[in-house]
Amino acid sequence: MAGTVLDAWNARKIGLPEGALPRREDIERHQLAMLRHTLQMAKENSPFYAKRLAGIDAARDIASLEDMRKIPFTTESDLRESGLSMLCVPQSEVSRIVTLQTSGSAGNPKRIYFTEEDQELTIDFFHFGMRVMVDESDLALILLPCERPGSVGDLLRRGLARGGTDAIPYGPVSRSDAALDEAVLALIRERRVSALIGGPVEIARLARSGAANGVSGTSVRSVLLSTEYVSDENRRTIEKCWNCKVFEHYGTTESGLGGAMACHVREGYHPREADLLFEIIDPESGRALPDGVWGEVVFTTLTRRAMPFIRYRIGDVGRWLPAPCGCGSALKRLDRIGDRAAVKRRPGA
Ligand SMILES: [Zn+2]
Repeated sequence: MAGTVLDAWNARKIGLPEGALPRREDIERHQLAMLRHTLQMAKENSPFYAKRLAGIDAARDIASLEDMRKIPFTTESDLRESGLSMLCVPQSEVSRIVTLQTSGSAGNPKRIYFTEEDQELTIDFFHFGMRVMVDESDLALILLPCERPGSVGDLLRRGLARGGTDAIPYGPVSRSDAALDEAVLALIRERRVSALIGGPVEIARLARSGAANGVSGTSVRSVLLSTEYVSDENRRTIEKCWNCKVFEHYGTTESGLGGAMACHVREGYHPREADLLFEIIDPESGRALPDGVWGEVVFTTLTRRAMPFIRYRIGDVGRWLPAPCGCGSALKRLDRIGDRAAVKRRPGA
């Protein structure tokens, strides 16, 4: 198969004719135009960016994506300290605010703002991206936060519904409650759930607990792992216990929840390139690293309105996979995002 559902999504986003496969230059032309637009919009509407980007004139300074390096980074502490001054729309246009209090760190929580349109971007990405693992015949069980409108599970459910896939918005499962595992396993059996979406540790636990109770040959045929580092062990456990395909997703609240999604080849994941511009940098020098070298993940939002992120240092460790993907897509490919805690234990890694 030439190209993927993610190619189709990118092609439509960047205005290519239906059925066209985006070439690398099509994607980068779109990214450059949207980057310049975002810089301009942020400077005009946000007091924080007006100051931070005072030395940058998008029309004069940003002629290619390599010129990104002229743009200053933003960090988590900017986000904590600047609060509303990063906002680019009147508060009346904000439809969702996510507050993240990092455990063990003092100071202000992170607050990330979205307009209705910002959330629509993510629903649309999930609509296309999830087609790699489900179709109309599937029933998905979402084991991620679902309750609030705009939560990751809610956006996933809405994206799935657009593709004709029904979903049960269940919510997160605990890591230590055996009775809850039983209830979820019973639900999978009774409703013949065929797709599961959730965290790797929790789903691996469910798979093991099902196998221990002699539940084999379940209806589960695909699993999407998200929210945190996926170990090989957890991935193998799930595949073995349920004889299913495991897909991985990478996203953060700042990236708009959706970030990068595996294709059918399932080696690394393709970023949501029409909406997000990822870089891998040397955390010391801030310079871009060559493909294949591990470094720090940085991204810029290209289409968000309420609170754009410009060269935002998310703090995760990642690298570009250098070889083209077997799916034939021109989209870049991130290797599995590394274990943040492990990197902290290895200074300089
Ligand atoms: Zn691929």
